[in-house]
Amino acid sequence: AKARGGGCYAFCSQELREEAQQKKVLVSGLYRALDKGELVVYYQPQVDAATGNIVGVEALLRWVHPELGFLLPDSFIPLAEQTGLIIPIGEWVLQTACSQLAAWKKKGLRIHRVAVNLSPAQLRDPQLTDKVHKAVEKAGIFPDNLELEVTESAVFQNPDEVIALLQELKKLGMRVALDDFGVGYSSLIRLKMLPVDRIKVDRRFFREIPSNRRDVAIVENIIQLARSINAAVIAEGVENGQQLEFVVDRGCYEIQGYYYYHPLPPEEIEALLLRTQDR
Ligand code: C2E
Ligand code: CA
Ligand code: CA
Ligand code: CA
Repeated sequence: AKARGGGCYAFCSQELREEAQQKKVLVSGLYRALDKGELVVYYQPQVDAATGNIVGVEALLRWVHPELGFLLPDSFIPLAEQTGLIIPIGEWVLQTACSQLAAWKKKGLRIHRVAVNLSPAQLRDPQLTDKVHKAVEKAGIFPDNLELEVTESAVFQNPDEVIALLQELKKLGMRVALDDFGVGYSSLIRLKMLPVDRIKVDRRFFREIPSNRRDVAIVENIIQLARSINAAVIAEGVENGQQLEFVVDRGCYEIQGYYYYHPLPPEEIEALLLRTQDR
């Protein structure tokens, strides 16, 4: 790793210049990425550990950049967020995910839930409810086929507004999941007021399970907490059999993690659904 201490002034400023340059290249590319069809949606299965059935998928954005190749969201979502580009991009993800689910259902595949991430900027968009509603209508799916994922931190930046927004979405029939849960330690009182159907345990808690006693306690508490507010709970980032056994032993059966499947392009999901649904 490069030191960023006192004695590296010239070196570091060059590094910063390069970083800023790279950022500029990405931002200008991102403006055109949507129109040029460079953005694609992958889907990661959510599995019922009791049966092995796929019960849902989460839509996860990827960017096939003409020069830089296959980019994961952590390298461009923050830029999309800063520039406001996440608004049109997020709307496109919503539409794409809803019509993808409609297409799978039309082919007779048994899949009833697609989850889509909403960023903090989208939560501040006054037209969000309208856009979500239209995406569902246009695709011709049921509102409860769509689950909207909001992060714990986004909610608690602006709790009153976000609670009102989520209530509106729930009135329209959509589901709500609280993503990356456990990082911000929401107060119980606020959590009780949040209209959430599902809590997603943040994947960083699974890295050292079952050896790290603190993480063990946190995960156990989150599972309990979800139960006490009547929310479903899903474990994200389960990578091995030990982690799976740990959560299943504690009554959490829904799993999204590499142990089962990585995020996959739509045609691979389709093949997978065909293969697994008649078991
Ligand atoms: P997230 O919403 O927490 O999504 C789950 C991330 O965990 C995905 O990373 C997924 O590939 C990864 N993951 C799942 N299982 C495992 C596992 O067993 N081990 C490990 N190490 N990782 C696992 P991905 O696809 O790189 O996405 C990163 C983040 O980018 C997402 O985190 C989400 O915050 C954001 N993102 C992705 N797509 C969208 C989008 O369409 N809109 C917005 N606003 N954000 C998005
Ligand atoms: Ca998510
Ligand atoms: Ca997450
Ligand atoms: Ca995240």
